Amino acid sequence: MRSDNPVATAVERYNSDPLNLVQIVHDAQAALGWLSRETQGEIAERLKIPVNRVESVVTFYSFFYDKPRGAYRLLISDNITDRMQGNQALLERLLVHFSINRGEVSADGLVSVDLTSCTGMCDQGPAMLVNNVAVPRLSEARIDAIANLIEARAPLDHWPAEFFRVEDNVRRQGPLLQAPMTPGRAIDAAIAIGREGLLNEMKRSNLRGRGGAGFTTGLKWEAARNAPGAERYIVCNADEGEPGAFKDRVLLSSHASRVFEGMSIAAYAVGATRGFLYLRGEYEYLKSRLDAELERMRLVRRLGPAIRGCAGFDFDVEIHVGAGAYVCGEETALLESLAGKPGRPRVRPPYPVTHGYLGRPTVVNNVETLCQATEVAIHGGAAFAGQGTKNSTGSKLLSVSGDCEQPGVYEYSFGVPIAQVLEDAGAARDAAAVQIGGPSGVLMTPDQFTRRIAFEDVPTSGSFMIFSGQRDMFEVARNFVHFFAHESCGFCTPCRVGTSLQREMVEKIAEGRGTRYEINELMRVRGLMRRMSHCGLGQMAGNAISDCWSKFRPTFERRLLATEFAPAMDLDAALAPARVVMGRDDAGAHLKEEV
Ligand code: SF4
Repeated sequence: MRSDNPVATAVERYNSDPLNLVQIVHDAQAALGWLSRETQGEIAERLKIPVNRVESVVTFYSFFYDKPRGAYRLLISDNITDRMQGNQALLERLLVHFSINRGEVSADGLVSVDLTSCTGMCDQGPAMLVNNVAVPRLSEARIDAIANLIEARAPLDHWPAEFFRVEDNVRRQGPLLQAPMTPGRAIDAAIAIGREGLLNEMKRSNLRGRGGAGFTTGLKWEAARNAPGAERYIVCNADEGEPGAFKDRVLLSSHASRVFEGMSIAAYAVGATRGFLYLRGEYEYLKSRLDAELERMRLVRRLGPAIRGCAGFDFDVEIHVGAGAYVCGEETALLESLAGKPGRPRVRPPYPVTHGYLGRPTVVNNVETLCQATEVAIHGGAAFAGQGTKNSTGSKLLSVSGDCEQPGVYEYSFGVPIAQVLEDAGAARDAAAVQIGGPSGVLMTPDQFTRRIAFEDVPTSGSFMIFSGQRDMFEVARNFVHFFAHESCGFCTPCRVGTSLQREMVEKIAEGRGTRYEINELMRVRGLMRRMSHCGLGQMAGNAISDCWSKFRPTFERRLLATEFAPAMDLDAALAPARVVMGRDDAGAHLKEEV
């Protein structure tokens, strides 16, 4: 029998296993609203772990609260596309309505309002999360209706269903999206060709990871299969946190059986028995649907022991929900989080294929990669390799948003020119820039629109944000700089300090107090972060500002106090009395100007 004590219930639900600490904290907070010191202490006591381990988890993740929050927690998505769609005015409207400041709780404890990083709704923003449930397409009217519902203390399931309707917005279909896969087809195809045959087809397909790094999936599976160890794991990285990316949301919403079959065939090839789908906290509203799909698959023996009657093919999947930490999209940070710890990236090597979850061989694949793997199992590696380009086979999903007529998900064979995507999205005439691959990606201008989406030209995990000539590109870069400062996990100094310095200097420029000195410093800090940061987040955190400076210089220059560096005082002149005292006026007694 379950206890009335929510902490005891949460701990029991996860078998009192500290590896599930992040999930236990999620459940405890869902029941209690926030995580007091007493609650954290009780979790630690029941799990028999030091309380500072619980504290380190609670303070690491943005969606865990060690101070009271409102009964209704409103988090307005703050990607640049949300800003372009007017999220700031809507935030202000809410704050005025409830007479609170951003981040505060109303005096009666009813509501708190804050901003959060991109919620993956850029095709239907501005958006927000209400108690972790997505509400897209915000307008003044919708904000007012929500405020009234909150004042009436209406439970979320009494709110109009329309408020929570999230569209797929699939605008262009290719092999993956054009027809739903017949359930079981990929698993049956894999069993028919056998484990070795499947691995061979995967290698023949040259399918590369769709998360951005582009490692060859067949080789990754083979390395995990060959790594020493009795237990292996498959992890689906559904932590789609790149601002401007939302195509995994569509795959998880409408193609969940394909995602799970992709995990199952990976398990078959590798010899894994256990899998995890790590769902970003912003997509928690999808969890019940995904759990239902897992249950359906178990009923028809597409999960569980002896899948489809195949002896030795035993595999099942658990869903773990993240808690608002972008860095957990990095695979080793994700594995730390899965093991109930703060999501800090590990030192690599060793790599997850040999030392992954609990130090055991683990395949970590992106949602889209696993879906593409089902295509390989069904149609064979050669057919898959026949699409796209030599080094980038198959199709790629793009999340297209920003200044275009048709924001949504587009599927293309690799090699599609940027100009084609703009044409299809209704942005060909006005596009002045496209940010590809999110804030850590590249900013492309019209002279580069003939470039192609492919690993060998413009690689991307899928985020494709379009900006018209009317946009102030400094504000775009400013939003990205704030994003990195917020999302730096703080583990290494170059990134922790560098992203904060970037933010301070960009704010100084925004306030009209900057000079050429700030620009030089921004470039210097970018170089330091690139060379010295521990993981990709810090290494790429200066890209946006440097790209924007090199391609949209006037947008910075019109904000600068002076475009050339002008020191506040003449230090050499100030040292003249000292030279008189010393009786020297030779060159060595003067300060040299640094070039
Ligand atoms: Fe954390 Fe940034 Fe260092 Fe990565 S680079 S480990 S995000 S502080």
